[in-house]
Amino acid sequence: MSSDDGIAAAAAGLEADVAIVGASLAGSCAALLLARGGLRVAVLERARFPRPRICGELLSPDGVAVLGRLGVLPAVRAAGAATIRRFTVVGPSGSRVESTLPAPALSLSRERLDELLARAAADAGARVAFDAPVVGVDGSLSDGFVVRTPGSTLRARAVLGAWGRYSPLDGRLGRPFFRARASLFGFKKFLRGPAAHLEDRAILHLFRGGYLGLSLVEKGRVSLGALATPAVAQEAHHAFDSLLGRLTAESPALARDLRGLVPEPGPTLLSEPVHLGRRDPCAGDVLLAGDAAGVVDPYTGAGMALALRSGEAAAALLREYLAGELPATGVTAAWRRRHRRLAGRQLFFSRLLRPFFLGGAASRLLVPAAAPLARLAAVVTRGPV
Ligand SMILES: Cc1cc2nc3c(=O)[nH]c(=O)nc-3n(C[C@H](O)[C@H](O)[C@H](O)COP(=O)(O)OP(=O)(O)OC[C@H]3O[C@@H](n4cnc5c(N)ncnc54)[C@H](O)[C@@H]3O)c2cc1C
Repeated sequence: MSSDDGIAAAAAGLEADVAIVGASLAGSCAALLLARGGLRVAVLERARFPRPRICGELLSPDGVAVLGRLGVLPAVRAAGAATIRRFTVVGPSGSRVESTLPAPALSLSRERLDELLARAAADAGARVAFDAPVVGVDGSLSDGFVVRTPGSTLRARAVLGAWGRYSPLDGRLGRPFFRARASLFGFKKFLRGPAAHLEDRAILHLFRGGYLGLSLVEKGRVSLGALATPAVAQEAHHAFDSLLGRLTAESPALARDLRGLVPEPGPTLLSEPVHLGRRDPCAGDVLLAGDAAGVVDPYTGAGMALALRSGEAAAALLREYLAGELPATGVTAAWRRRHRRLAGRQLFFSRLLRPFFLGGAASRLLVPAAAPLARLAAVVTRGPV
């Protein structure tokens, strides 16, 4: 996979059938399927992979099913993905709700998973360009698009935006959520040490001001991904050890689960603002997939699967359009309909159940008797396996 190839091609005015912005889960999944279908695909990615991502890294069973359909599951397992069958939610008062997932989930660091998928897309024939931030997208499905990175221009018949939950492009395209004040941020750290209690299990701890998830990834690393208020996220960024000290003093259950685990050296990653919920899955004639099309609350552990499933669905629709089975004027309406069918229920229920997971008063209702509710939440906030 060569970033230089992609950039050089773009600079030479490459014509692509589909330009994809973002090479992470939604983008690479769509790129792989479109390239396998014989289309000319260019993927422009701002970062250079491998790179860490702020995420709990638990891929729910419906996401595992997509990896199976893409044919990359053997590579993901070979990279050391841990299997997770059990899920525990620990309330702020220490009460635990245990549930078993309907099918096994996988846990692999986003460094590895995103790189694997981008490589599979490149192997299928997509041109993947790293260090290629898209700064502008102009045009329409009827007239074609021009996609700009600093210093290069790419022409494409269709554009898929897979740039995640928050990008300057959202502002340039006038998407309303971009101007709203965000009340939540994510942060991320890897830990090392004794983690037998995390074999086959992911644990979500709720605390005042947010929640954090713990799961094992490859090479015995423990992934800690959290969503929190700005104040807690800032504390994590500047004084991670003291934040953990405070939270473990408040929660003996968290203290037990973190005993002996030591943060890896390096800064705690802090996310861009996290605007949860439904969004228009189109910006003009640009189709959007993954978080760019709507952000499901991370407590569900469903965002990665939704990114993959929406990448798959967007690729199917774009194939129909490019094969002449759908007129340019019908594409965005069809995508809004299909995206609502794909993600509407998950976005609705993840929002409805959010008060139970944000560590406030409703979280105290999370007692062992709530296990059926937790199982129901696991079903209604995830896609079909
Ligand atoms: C704290 C937290 C914990 C989470 N835990 C989990 C979990 O355990 N399980 C789960 O399933 N989900 C989890 N999620 C959600 C999950 O991380 C996202 O749903 C998922 O990453 C979405 O994938 P994506 O492909 O849509 O976008 P992303 O993974 O966000 O990727 C977008 C890509 O686009 C690139 N990009 C952005 N702008 C541009 C541009 N202008 N030009 C070119 N490239 C650009 C970025 O560099 C990036 O590589 C969590 C989220 C948070 C915040």
